[in-house]
Amino acid sequence: MSTQRTAVVTGAARGIGRAVAVRLAADGHQVAVVDLDESACAGTVEEITAAGGRAIAVGADVSDEAQVAAAVERIAAELGAPTVLVNNAGIIRDNLLFKMSLDDWDAVMGVHLRGAFLMTKACQAYMTQEKHGRVVNLSSTSALGNRGQANYAAAKAGMQGFTKTLAIELGKFGVTANAIAPGFIQTEMTAATAERVGVPFEDFIAYSAKEIPVQRVGQPEDIAATASFLCSDEAGFVSGQVIYVAGGPRD
Ligand code: NAP
Repeated sequence: MSTQRTAVVTGAARGIGRAVAVRLAADGHQVAVVDLDESACAGTVEEITAAGGRAIAVGADVSDEAQVAAAVERIAAELGAPTVLVNNAGIIRDNLLFKMSLDDWDAVMGVHLRGAFLMTKACQAYMTQEKHGRVVNLSSTSALGNRGQANYAAAKAGMQGFTKTLAIELGKFGVTANAIAPGFIQTEMTAATAERVGVPFEDFIAYSAKEIPVQRVGQPEDIAATASFLCSDEAGFVSGQVIYVAGGPRD
């Protein structure tokens, strides 16, 4: 178990973020459960507190500078210096390039890149002061290119460059930064993709599993386990890495 620290997980009302928040709380951290709608965070907070952990719900749009500043200030006041940050909040606005609107491009860049930038900038002030920090950014196998996801692929590749630069700049302050690049994880996000392509979710899962070397799709807990390690004290010599958690290798 790591030293007890304050961890911030964005987009933690559901899916991967929720599993990461629950896991970091089980690891002994107090957790700020951040999502767009504060009331939507209640389920995650209840799951953590029912298991004996400590968590607060924080409503914030990670792409809004003022909301991020207020959220991080509140987290520091209520839970202590946020020195563990998981930038997980994400959206998809898929379309082929010729049909993709500028709004769809900007929205995806806003949540993933602007959001990770704002959250990390706000939290690094505490991390550098505490001489300890762990940043984990959610990338994706889509960073390698994916039909219908010009916006998302660019954002997720951007997350990798952002992560490596954080590792270089903040290492001397005891801060590590790593990215997790999941493959297919069973969440509402992949359910929405199945709906968009007009395939029942169970069929989409079964078809996808056949293409994955370990012959199953991922679960949010698979990502939470990796995040748990990267946020731990013992991961202090792992920095600037992109870990593909996809049931098989990726180039
Ligand atoms: P999800 O089920 O759609 O959950 C994403 C969460 O982020 C939602 O609760 C959403 O809130 C929240 N969110 C969206 N915009 C936000 C904003 N501006 N500020 C704060 N919170 C915001 O997605 P997921 O599948 O768990 O994915 C989590 C992360 O993993 C994302 O970064 C995603 O790109 C990445 N990822 C997922 C997969 C996969 O297969 N599922 C694969 C690779 C990477 P609302 O419900 O209010 O919109």
